[in-house]
Order: sequence, then structure tokens, then C-alpha cells
Amino acid sequence: MKGELEKNIVKRIKVNLDKCIGCRACELACSVFHANPKYSSVNPAMSRIQVVIDPLNDEYVPIRACDYSKAGCDGRRVYTINGKEYSECSFCGTVCPTRDLFKEPDSGLPLKCDMCEDDPPQKEPLCVQVCQVGALVYEEEEEEVEEEVRPDEMEIGLKSLIDKYGLEKLADTFARMSQKV
Ligand code: SF4
Ligand code: SF4
Repeated sequence: MKGELEKNIVKRIKVNLDKCIGCRACELACSVFHANPKYSSVNPAMSRIQVVIDPLNDEYVPIRACDYSKAGCDGRRVYTINGKEYSECSFCGTVCPTRDLFKEPDSGLPLKCDMCEDDPPQKEPLCVQVCQVGALVYEEEEEEVEEEVRPDEMEIGLKSLIDKYGLEKLADTFARMSQKV
């Protein structure tokens, strides 16, 4: 959904591919922060950042979960950066059916990076704070952007359930459950 221009703080995490050593501390920190209750368990499968590792090629690519898509794309491009070849999927944070990344292990619902929304706010996202080699760099910039309502993780989860079961079945289930609470 798009609207008028407004001043907004745009948050970014830049990745320095040459610095990442594949230690996976970022995955641990993200999963601990998003455990329910917070900090109660460590499960890297729940992390909104995953490091794609190809040790034979000396490739370590941290990617963060972004949008959900009910279909996979046909992008099969190969990128060459500093003499190394990377597949297009290595840089893609889309939660799609062609791979298992960024899906809650029990429910299969899509995960999404929230830049560590917290109250009070974190000074930097958790994954950036624990990356000791500076492979993740946090930046904030004030920009005039088109007002946009971005779906949160619950909305994305509901969309994936609608894609899987259909709106009618889901509405019936909600109606049945609401009579029990
Ligand atoms: S913490 Fe930093 S160095 Fe370790 S895997 Fe994550 S991005 Fe790479
Ligand atoms: S910014 Fe926060 S939510 Fe996003 S990947 Fe990093 S630790 Fe996880």
C-alpha cells in the first residue's frame, strides 16, 4: 500500500562479504532475542539471519529474512564478486517454497527480520552488536520516502496460512476457535 511522501528513518544493515568468517554468532543472537519468552532458548533455526556457507569456495554470506512469497522465482543468475561466484539465492532473503530458510521449525510459518524492534529501542540490531569482525554494519539515514505500510510477521504468517488453506477454511477455524475462548 503506498501513500504520500514523508520523512522517515531508514534502517539498513550493510554486509561486508570479505569480513564474514561464518562464526554464526549473529544467528545465535537473533534466535535468543526472538525466543518466547525473550532470551529463554537458543535455536538458530528461529533466527531471522542465516549465513549461507560454502567453505570450499571460501564463501560466507549472511542474509536476513525479508518478504514472503508463495512461489519461487526463476532467477538463476550467478554473480562474480572479487573473483568469487555467488548464486542469486545466496543474496536473497525472500521466504519462498524452494528452500527451507526462514521458516519456523514447528509451524513452517515465515520469519521476518524486524531490525530488533524493542522497547526501549536497542542501540543497534543484535546481530550487528555480536559480529566481532565488522561484517555487519548498521546505518540509519533520514530519507523522504513514500509512506508505506509494511506487513509485520503476524500479517505475513496469516498470508501464508491463507495461501496454504484458503481464506474460507481459515475464517471457519477462527470462528470455531473464538467460540471456545
Ligand atoms: S557474526 Fe559476523 S562474522 Fe559471524 S557469521 Fe555473522 S556476519 Fe559472519
Ligand atoms: S536485525 Fe535483529 S531481527 Fe534482524 S536479523 Fe539481525 S538480530 Fe535478527
